[in-house]
Amino acid sequence: MRIKLLGAPVDALNMKETVSQIKEFFKKGSKPHFIITLNPEYLYRAQDNEELMKLVQGADLVTPDGTGIVWAAKMAGFPVPERVTGIDLMLNLIPVAEQEGWGIFLLGAAPGVAEDTAKNLKKQYPNLIIAGTHDGYFKPQEEAAIVKKIAEAKPHLLFVALGMPRQEQWIHRYKDQLGVPVSMGVGGSFDVIAG
Ligand code: UDP
Repeated sequence: MRIKLLGAPVDALNMKETVSQIKEFFKKGSKPHFIITLNPEYLYRAQDNEELMKLVQGADLVTPDGTGIVWAAKMAGFPVPERVTGIDLMLNLIPVAEQEGWGIFLLGAAPGVAEDTAKNLKKQYPNLIIAGTHDGYFKPQEEAAIVKKIAEAKPHLLFVALGMPRQEQWIHRYKDQLGVPVSMGVGGSFDVIAG
């Protein structure tokens, strides 16, 4: 079920159901899907930022990212089962990616961090396919080349760690050119996984 919280949609799914829904996206053909893990800060900023509100309204899946969102949904009378954060969802998708043979692309964080993230994930999931990595400190004029690099790598999943809301804006802006089946922003997750 999709509820509405202060104008933004939130999908009332637990982690397991969220992962199942993402698996369904892959069955639906090649349309790019965009997931937002909605945290209170984003929802707050979207109240007077039409671009951010439109972006979340257009997302294919919106997860409740934070106890504040879970609490607010309960208060509004539309409870959601549990919080589904960006890093938790990413870490739940990695074993599925390994099993299903989905290639992943890691975009974002300081130079070297996406590579270290990939290395650490490979230690735990040796058969995981890393389609590519790129750091998140690039100039606007470099973006076209990065989009091309990702599109050519043909990942199934794109994780973007540029911080909120830039990562969401970036995915939205380029998703049709990227042609990646499922993309999501993951904030500071690469820094955590890279250690
Ligand atoms: N970052 C980046 N490029 C930038 C600014 C930030 O790749 O121009 C990365 C930063 O290195 C970090 C992530 O974006 O890995 C943002 O993490 P943060 O925890 O601040 O994001 P939030 O979870 O608050 O969205």
